[in-house]
Amino acid sequence: MAIIEKTEGIVIRRERFRSTSKMVTLFSKDYGRLSLLAKGGFDPKRLLGGNLEPFSLTEITFYYREGKEYHLISGASLIYDFPRFRSETERFFYASLLSSFIIKTLPKEVKQSSLYQLFLSTIFLLDRVGKESLIYSFLIKAASFFGYQPNLLSCLRCSRQLKSFFFSSQRGGFLCAACREGEGIDFQLEEARRLKSLLLLPQREVGKLELGEKEKEAIRSFLAFHLNFFFPNPPSF
Ligand SMILES: [Zn+2]
Repeated sequence: MAIIEKTEGIVIRRERFRSTSKMVTLFSKDYGRLSLLAKGGFDPKRLLGGNLEPFSLTEITFYYREGKEYHLISGASLIYDFPRFRSETERFFYASLLSSFIIKTLPKEVKQSSLYQLFLSTIFLLDRVGKESLIYSFLIKAASFFGYQPNLLSCLRCSRQLKSFFFSSQRGGFLCAACREGEGIDFQLEEARRLKSLLLLPQREVGKLELGEKEKEAIRSFLAFHLNFFFPNPPSF
């Protein structure tokens, strides 16, 4: 039997289902990643609130069908629209990257309050300031929620405090100069400090960071290795 439920969430994917319906993936506050069908959602005569645009924050009422692949939307009301994601390609790309991370890593229907709050604050700030640093910070923090926090304090091998940083893609973390034995990508101290800030600062502070091109490059290559090491199918950027 289906029970009526209500939750808020961000539409992270929207696809056509059969000829007139919409299949919506919602990163929701109460159920984590949810698949929901809006029957007739593409029929202009049956528009639901906010039309379930990608990256809109929406409150959704739905019939929860125990054990089913997807549930049925009975009503939707828009809480907040992020218009800049549709007018600015770069911001849309950033938001898509975050969504793709959620779709690829988060199991279905597992409530993830901290990750949801992080996602929401990142989306709000991305709409407002559109900084790349927010994406990097989100990915580092999100991986940490799954238990994969980068070792930025002590060497992965000898546990001594890190004074120089060599990222080992074989071990998925940082080694000190004595332990690296030829392996590892050399990280400048400044770049490692940036990584620490991206991991530890709240998103509103991260949104104020100005990263240089070289720093961005170092952080991107770190992230590519880091995410690849821990997740089977991470988003690429
Ligand atoms: Zn060491």
